[in-house]
Amino acid sequence: MIPFNKPYMTGRELWHIAQAHANGHLSGDGQFTKRCHAWLEQNTGANRALLTHSCTSALEMSALLLDLQEGDEVIMPSYTFVSTANAFALRGAVPVFVDIRADTLNLDERLVEAAITPRTKAICVVHYAGVACEMDTIMEIAARHGLVVVEDAAQAIMSTYKGRPLGAIGEMGALSFHETKNIISGEGGALLCRDSQYAERAEIIREKGTNRSRFFRGQVDKYTWVDRGSSFLPGEITAAFLMAQMDEAEQINQRRLAIWERYNTWARQHADQGKVRLPTIPEQCHHNAHMYYLLLPSLQARTAFIANMKASGVQTVFHYIPLHSAPAGQALGRPHGAMTVTDTVSDCLVRLPLWIGVEDHLDTIFAAADKALS
Ligand SMILES: *Cc1c(COP(=O)(O)O)cnc(C)c1O
Repeated sequence: MIPFNKPYMTGRELWHIAQAHANGHLSGDGQFTKRCHAWLEQNTGANRALLTHSCTSALEMSALLLDLQEGDEVIMPSYTFVSTANAFALRGAVPVFVDIRADTLNLDERLVEAAITPRTKAICVVHYAGVACEMDTIMEIAARHGLVVVEDAAQAIMSTYKGRPLGAIGEMGALSFHETKNIISGEGGALLCRDSQYAERAEIIREKGTNRSRFFRGQVDKYTWVDRGSSFLPGEITAAFLMAQMDEAEQINQRRLAIWERYNTWARQHADQGKVRLPTIPEQCHHNAHMYYLLLPSLQARTAFIANMKASGVQTVFHYIPLHSAPAGQALGRPHGAMTVTDTVSDCLVRLPLWIGVEDHLDTIFAAADKALS
């Protein structure tokens, strides 16, 4: 079976871990963590990058930084991973789901303004498949209504919108280094703070609500409990692994993009015959080939496609069950307006294997898919 995902390892991870081991500093914020922070700040332009245990915990930090109160609202797509909503629901806020665009499958910016109420505090955008949302419009709406923009950039490391790296356009951004993402550490993530506004408090929240980071920089002479917080920082072993990946990020990105292009070239014939719809990449977006997906005409067609691919030895998978139709989404959130595109995409989308090394199997995958679509 050709798997849907296979985590890529550069070959230098264990060497880095051996160094961390030799350094004898195993808790967080050692030399490797600092190097990862510097890499992220350089590559995104964020004022402050902070490694976390996951994108989920970075989103939770953003919710804490927003000081959300019970009943506050956060606008987001329903077509996303549960953590986008859970992070805010954990603070008692209500996820307000807005439909997505039929082309990029991202939050439909034309529907956002109508969903704003006096309780709205933030917009959480998700850059699906590493393709940017229409950020200029979203930032402009947020500015006009005094809302904060949080980017769930879990899938979007190294992607850009009009040349600007994703995750550092809104006030805060959350990245994931889960093994299913492009740059990995098993579990892992980072919070990006675009400018200094949230940076210092983010450090405090991440260090159990203490000013420990300032203490280590010699800015205060003792450290103490100063705010709400938790333990959001990963240990050095995780950061050491991640640094090996960051050192090769450019090559990983190029190889993934080459695979994505091969899929897209192959799939065009089926799109021309009206059998599938291909991903749309707007001109202003440079993506990171996080995912290659096809949109089939119906749920039945997709179910048959996945079964036929499996019979040919290729694992393909669908994606999100819309949050507005999930039990917790119905209990904790509410949809604003129709969810037509969300529901259709959830039924019709299928993801194809995209990982470093799948190059050797692409001809098999294409043959299997040609057969499944014939
Ligand atoms: C993967 C993913 C997450 C969760 O990332 P973790 O690092 O596993 O917490 C959140 N949002 C989106 C859109 C994702 O794709």
